[in-house]
Amino acid sequence: MTAIKSVRTKLYEWTGPTVPPQPHFCTNASDALYERGDAMGSFRFHQWLVCEVEAESGEIGLGNAALCPPLVKEAIDRYYAPLVVGEDPFDYAYLWEKMYRRTLAWGRKGVGMTAISAVDIAIWDLMGKLAGRPVFKLLGGRTKEKIPCYYSKLYADNVEAMQAEAQAYLDKGFSMFKMRFGFGPKDGPAGMRENIKRVAAVREVIGPDCDLMLEAYMGWTLDYAKRIIPKLVPYEPRWLEEPVIADDIHGYAELNAGPIPISGGEHEFTLFGFRQLIDAKAVSVIQYDTNRVGGITAAQKINALAEAYQVPVIPHAGQMHNYHLTMANLNCPISEYFPVFNVEIGNELFYYIFEGDPEAVDGHIDLDDATPGLGLTLADAHADNFTIVQ
Ligand code: MG
Repeated sequence: MTAIKSVRTKLYEWTGPTVPPQPHFCTNASDALYERGDAMGSFRFHQWLVCEVEAESGEIGLGNAALCPPLVKEAIDRYYAPLVVGEDPFDYAYLWEKMYRRTLAWGRKGVGMTAISAVDIAIWDLMGKLAGRPVFKLLGGRTKEKIPCYYSKLYADNVEAMQAEAQAYLDKGFSMFKMRFGFGPKDGPAGMRENIKRVAAVREVIGPDCDLMLEAYMGWTLDYAKRIIPKLVPYEPRWLEEPVIADDIHGYAELNAGPIPISGGEHEFTLFGFRQLIDAKAVSVIQYDTNRVGGITAAQKINALAEAYQVPVIPHAGQMHNYHLTMANLNCPISEYFPVFNVEIGNELFYYIFEGDPEAVDGHIDLDDATPGLGLTLADAHADNFTIVQ
């Protein structure tokens, strides 16, 4: 046995150039507040947490987290690292329970569970490297020749810009597209018409044979969602994502009984959280993010539960920690895919921190059968554009 020798964390903060977002580029939960000013202020992700779990043999597993990285770093350094040092990384289920149960009072959701996720992902990467196998080969192996990806950007902008963006990625071979709503309850009937106009415009470009997904990022109310959904039906969306805040499980369930499948879960945590969503029939598509939900150990349990109920799992964000689970589970049919762009919201940052995340070709990504672990290394190319706090 090789034991875990150390756990290190690095906080990456982007200091390079950023593209300023358009006004109304995406609704979000802060839209309900009365304050004026930068309602999108919380909707930027320009920091990332990297977690390194090193074995006595010298192998290093890489994990990551993108929610509230400064506090996640503190939580790992203070609480979670001492719980796993000296242990066998292959005892991952026990280590997960140890991290969970020792911090349950404050860590079972949010920052604590995000920290557990980062450590758990690093442990899985380490196990893969020690075993000389890709992580997906430890989880069930290959269930797909390649993973079909949906293009995920199309932030709300003027109609012409959105149509040009959709056309550009249609031409690159994508056949599934997710777009964001820019308007919500505070924008009234005129804003609702602006939303519909953009959905119609993107559908016009991609035609009837492509999938169209719609994203509200918790920026609506239940009432608003009920009023707009009938107007969206003619555009045949594959799903409507996070129409209301993550805690309104009954609201999700009410909408999910309607004509458009509802998706969500990127702000939900652990097997127990997803049991609640499934029990309530709240979502038709589960979208946990492995680097929040409790890592690969928790995600794989949710996959089994979801499969039994035949609710497909399409993790939030793509990225390696999600791709390996998608490859290894038949009930994970496709992946989200954030395209490589200049840094804007921060969804792009993964490509600037890590090397090895696959770029889509003809709307598909593939994983290498021979690369041990998750297949990621820390990139040096953009180091000058980050402040890195160890
Ligand atoms: Mg989303």
